Amino acid sequence: MRHEDVDVVVVGAGATGLSAAHALVEAGRSVLVLEARDRVGGRLWSDTVDGVDLELGGQWVSPDQTALLEMLDRLGLETFERYREGESVYIGLDGRRTTFTGEQLPVAPEVEAEMDRLTERLDELAAAMDPDRPWELLGAEDLDRVTFWSWLQDQTKEPEARDNVAMFIAQAMLTKPAHTFSALQAVLMAASAGSFSNLVDSEFILDRRVVGGLQSVPLRLAERLGDVVRLGVDVEKVSWSHDSVVVAAGDLEVSARALVLAVPPTAVSRVRFDPPLPARQRETREHQSFGQVIKLHITYDTPFWRDAGLSGTAFSPYELVHEAYDNTNHDETRGTLVGFVSDLEADAVLALPAEERRALVLDSLARYFGPEAERPLSYFESDWTSEELGSGAYGSSFEIGGLTRFGPELRKAVGPMHIGSSDIAGLGFQHVDGALRVGAQIARAVIDQTQS
Ligand SMILES: Cc1cc2nc3c(=O)[nH]c(=O)nc-3n(C[C@H](O)[C@H](O)[C@H](O)COP(=O)(O)OP(=O)(O)OC[C@H]3O[C@@H](n4cnc5c(N)ncnc54)[C@H](O)[C@@H]3O)c2cc1C
Repeated sequence: MRHEDVDVVVVGAGATGLSAAHALVEAGRSVLVLEARDRVGGRLWSDTVDGVDLELGGQWVSPDQTALLEMLDRLGLETFERYREGESVYIGLDGRRTTFTGEQLPVAPEVEAEMDRLTERLDELAAAMDPDRPWELLGAEDLDRVTFWSWLQDQTKEPEARDNVAMFIAQAMLTKPAHTFSALQAVLMAASAGSFSNLVDSEFILDRRVVGGLQSVPLRLAERLGDVVRLGVDVEKVSWSHDSVVVAAGDLEVSARALVLAVPPTAVSRVRFDPPLPARQRETREHQSFGQVIKLHITYDTPFWRDAGLSGTAFSPYELVHEAYDNTNHDETRGTLVGFVSDLEADAVLALPAEERRALVLDSLARYFGPEAERPLSYFESDWTSEELGSGAYGSSFEIGGLTRFGPELRKAVGPMHIGSSDIAGLGFQHVDGALRVGAQIARAVIDQTQS
């Protein structure tokens, strides 16, 4: 058995764990970061597939994400604007394909009026919510008891308005069917990005990308931390008292004054605690679950849609690929589309043989962009739900009633142990911005706790 002794042991080398570790080292604490995978970054991962550089996990940065923007600045990372010249495509309830510019979907006037009304209502609720304390919103209990789907059904009789508003939060963000999470959880998703209007505005929410990929953030942080980041160390056990922990992984044992368990809530149960986690803390994590989304990367000889005056942006709650964007890399001549298949549609196509799934995806893209979409150079699916370390996509959220029942527990320390990831963020919830905010909050608490 090898034994090491540090001030703080950090488990998980995603954006949360590495940013916390970095702040702790800056504050003079000795730190060890233990990561189960053979790479850093967790849900941020750039890789080369068929000769194309792909961002398999998170990639976009929006102007409200100030914690992330500050970090990019500190790390000297540059960004570039997502390609968005030309017309976007929408396929409506009647199956009709329409092209449009701007953010307003080209729907019938009565549908547009209802979408505007729903947007205004969701914006009002989001503005009244403190995303760090959604359970304190006036009427939170009631909103947490109804599904987002039934709330929308109560609000409007226009199915296309309902389906589009549902899409922006269900398929596009929480990646769960709208009948499986509460209206309060939906409002939190909106509040975490500043407003619902921000979420539906792809110009805003998917504004920029990082040159070299968003995984550069954890990679640069790990580079600065040096050899205190250990890969391939899957933490199995944590023994703890009121002021110390011993973390065990294979033949390594680390003693510390505090633990930062920077893993998604679903990965907490993979660790054995001695004594066990208090029941309330354990239950809180058991009631959070990941959504389901397949991120598709399809590369062509050229970005052919641009020649047709299209931006590569496409939406439809009625299509298998509910949203798609031009994801051509910085300085690249080939054209790449990124698309997403979410929740129930993802369940259905994942049950099919890979060739059938690919054919259905390409058919869907052809309905947006024409027959050339059927002839890619390369096709790749990032399927995060097959990942064992609790890293589904994009993040985890509560079931009905969970936010008011367990939310207040989320950020409580358990003795010397602090558990967090982007899944418990307020602002930046489920995003890298949220991971960095949680990392900074935890680091502040641990610095206070370990003042000698
Ligand atoms: C497909 C996809 C697209 C996304 N798109 C965007 C986007 O465009 N913009 C954006 O901002 N965000 C996006 N996100 C979300 C964003 O990537 C995450 O919110 C963020 O990266 C989470 O960081 P984290 O450190 O909190 O958690 P994670 O990245 O999940 O890190 C947790 C780490 O803990 C490790 N771990 C778990 N258990 C153990 C253990 N027992 N011992 C040791 N290590 C352990 C894991 O291996 C992992 O490395 C996307 C995510 C996905 C998957």
